[in-house]
Amino acid sequence: MKVFKFGGASINTIERIKNTANIIETYKGEQLLIIISAMGKTTNALEKVADAFFNKKKDLALQLFEQVKETHLTTLKYLITLNWQQAENQLKNFFTEVEWLLHDKPVREYDYYYDQIVCCGELLSTTLVSIYLNEIGVKNRWIDVRDILRTDDNFRDAYVDWKYTSEKIKTDIKPLFNDTNMVITQGFIGATDENESTTLGREGSDFSAAIFANLLDAESQTIWKDVEAVMNADPKEFTDVKNIVELSYREVIEMAYYGAQVIHPNTIKPLENKNIPLHVRSFLNPSLPGTVISNKPTHNLPPIIVLKKQQVLMALSSKDFSFVEEKPLSQLYDIFDRIKIRPNLLQHGAIGLLCCLDDKSEKIDKLALAASEIFNVQLEKNLTLLTIRHYTEEKIKELTAGKKILLEQKTTETIQVLMR
Ligand code: ASP
Ligand code: MG
Repeated sequence: MKVFKFGGASINTIERIKNTANIIETYKGEQLLIIISAMGKTTNALEKVADAFFNKKKDLALQLFEQVKETHLTTLKYLITLNWQQAENQLKNFFTEVEWLLHDKPVREYDYYYDQIVCCGELLSTTLVSIYLNEIGVKNRWIDVRDILRTDDNFRDAYVDWKYTSEKIKTDIKPLFNDTNMVITQGFIGATDENESTTLGREGSDFSAAIFANLLDAESQTIWKDVEAVMNADPKEFTDVKNIVELSYREVIEMAYYGAQVIHPNTIKPLENKNIPLHVRSFLNPSLPGTVISNKPTHNLPPIIVLKKQQVLMALSSKDFSFVEEKPLSQLYDIFDRIKIRPNLLQHGAIGLLCCLDDKSEKIDKLALAASEIFNVQLEKNLTLLTIRHYTEEKIKELTAGKKILLEQKTTETIQVLMR
């Protein structure tokens, strides 16, 4: 069995849905479990609905939701001919689920409402694609993943209950393949034991696909994207970018850790644990080989470049010129833990520390305030953190030319430079 994941960009127009269906059709004889994201920018649109609702702007929330409905009903109209009535009924059920809630007043926390509203994006998109595929003769079963993927109630960043989910996949998903070759379901969403919808964090459907791949012992997982392959740098930031044919799990984890937006960072572990290769391929050009990520160590990789913008340098120094010893350090780590912020880079000196952090303003303010009880604190904002894996001296020179370097850390594999 193979697990496929299609992102929102692969189904954001009628033409693209048909293209995605064509790709799926070429695998018709094989067992496939397919995870599909919400169409295009639906998740962003639904986030706005949740915001409006929570800010007690009910009319605005309903109006914004109306636009989401329109988009899906229009897609339905142009995509589905025979079974449009069935499709419309199913979409309307999901619309009602949300509208029912929008007519209420918010009494619980924001994250709860976010999940109840935002989850409908994938329910709508998968319904449309599933019915369309059945209509063109690619027989499949649609499953509401909320009956399968159980999570805790940490809304917006829910933690997967592997034991329950594994049981459900055994009893409810595996037997489906006795009657069909194809099961279509949603990524990114799940449900609690009280049937409340949850989400796994933005871009979470790569992770959902990996959960299924792991629990189904899939032979491989493929993420179909709008790029030719994983590249050694972001093509929006750099010219001469290269496709990488092969990568190791380890390398991808490292890249994600340093901030490369290739694949959701949680995706690798479930695959690595069962040694399931991950393919990244282009839905625009499925004849290209893309990238394969596996346990095979890779050699001769080009320099892999990650830029993180909006960085803050927090300089901490002891108040009385004493050494920074274990106690203040462990206090500082406790603060990181409490505020849930992780430094991207940390350098320790005799009477001070330098930390580079993402500029999440609210958290930085809290952090600076808490740290100021132990240290003198200075902040500098608007910095860029450059990471190069498999660096060469030439590359470092090229990418730091004309910049003021504030902090640098180097291992044999990786260099990180914080620059102004
Ligand atoms: N639709 C969700 C998002 O845009 C999840 C995903 O696509 O992975 O974040
Ligand atoms: Mg996406």
